[in-house]
Amino acid sequence: MASQHTYSTESKSNILPLRPVVKDYAWGIRGLDSRVARYALESGVIDEVDPDAPYAELWLGTHPSGPATIRDGTSLEHAVGGQLPFMFKVLSAGKALSIQAHPCKSLARELHRDNPSEYADDNHKPELAVALTPFEAMCGFRRLEEIAILIKKHPEFAACISNEAKLKVFLCSQEDEDKRAALRSLFQSFMSCPKETSSRHLKVLLKRLQKEQSCDFVHPHEEPPWERKCARAILRLAQQFPGDSGAMAPFLLNYLLIAPGESFFMAANEPHAYVAGEIIECMACSDNVVRAGLTPKFKDVDNLVGMLTYSMGGPTINAGTPAYGDDRIMRYTPPTKEFEVMVITCNPGEDITLPRLPVPAIFIVIEGSGNTDNEDGQRLVMRPGRSYYMPSNCPPLTIAVNSSKHGPLRIALAHENQHIDQPNLSTSTAGTKTWSGEFALPPAPSPSPKCARNGLDRLKENGNGNRELHIPPI
Ligand SMILES: [Zn+2]
Repeated sequence: MASQHTYSTESKSNILPLRPVVKDYAWGIRGLDSRVARYALESGVIDEVDPDAPYAELWLGTHPSGPATIRDGTSLEHAVGGQLPFMFKVLSAGKALSIQAHPCKSLARELHRDNPSEYADDNHKPELAVALTPFEAMCGFRRLEEIAILIKKHPEFAACISNEAKLKVFLCSQEDEDKRAALRSLFQSFMSCPKETSSRHLKVLLKRLQKEQSCDFVHPHEEPPWERKCARAILRLAQQFPGDSGAMAPFLLNYLLIAPGESFFMAANEPHAYVAGEIIECMACSDNVVRAGLTPKFKDVDNLVGMLTYSMGGPTINAGTPAYGDDRIMRYTPPTKEFEVMVITCNPGEDITLPRLPVPAIFIVIEGSGNTDNEDGQRLVMRPGRSYYMPSNCPPLTIAVNSSKHGPLRIALAHENQHIDQPNLSTSTAGTKTWSGEFALPPAPSPSPKCARNGLDRLKENGNGNRELHIPPI
């Protein structure tokens, strides 16, 4: 497909070694346990690793907040002949990142215009995560049915939400639009709960959950595993961010654990918070983050409440689709034109020739070692953490791994989306697991009655008009 961007047409067929930029955000994994630290050391960005310092992100792109350079000191932007449409990153998360969402293009323009110090650019930031280790994340809102159960079981959470918002949740019809409206009221109410109120209830909640975690505690009923997981997540987040009511986020957001090689895509205006583990991440070239909790940084609750889509259920989880007829090349293609990611696995004794790409690409060695060769005779030694810029129409690159090696060479490569008509991260296709929520829902009743009527019918069916049975006490 034709490229969306115009790149420099200067002849530059050579693959060039990169110097990425390291970000030391407080949530990063510390010392050599962090892949970001090891990769930064290998690529010559740092001379030594401080065992006590966090190493959070490695940036491979042209964004002005962290532009990568070619090893000889020239800027990547100059080599590309402009901005790359995407940012490629490695993330090492030791503790949770803030609860956040990224704006769509029109909102990004407004935010940047009105508050350029918080919103550095005017671009949207859809993002894709591919796990390098088991990776925990909160992604998208839970289904309303799950949230309703959690409100009933956790009076401290219920106490942070207005009666009106709770009524909307409990009396909601099966119509999508009504559910979204109920979820919006609920989220808005939770986010605008006064800090003193939420901290007081959070304290009580944590005390109770801690007690319930102890071996001596006799549960009055067998608690489903997903609820236990949710409680454990809250305790862990509260430990990381004492006093921050964002620790209750697992009541509202899907809590996922994905395995190495699995991925998900976060479209604009979807709430998420990455919790722990290491990933490669690719996104449109932007650094716009609207934060709502689990952070000492600026929280922009009004914009967050206003921007979200309030769609429910988690993202599609995908372990990649073979590309170019070779199942050693797995592609992760989101439904956005700026980027896609390939993970290439070359086993000992094998070689793989990558296709000639009509667009520039960035790649980084994730693990293993090997060599490359191309028709220009350019040979590179591949080691974990080394990263490269591959100009467009570069001669096809052959990667080879000596048969004496013990493990495969794995490379992650990002470029402008070449498979936009075949995304595998938005639709349900073979090899795709669609997050089905924490439990199966009963089939929707048909025909679907109106919102209030449905709620009243339910009350009547139960033979009890007392709403206190359905709405938790405040
Ligand atoms: Zn994000």
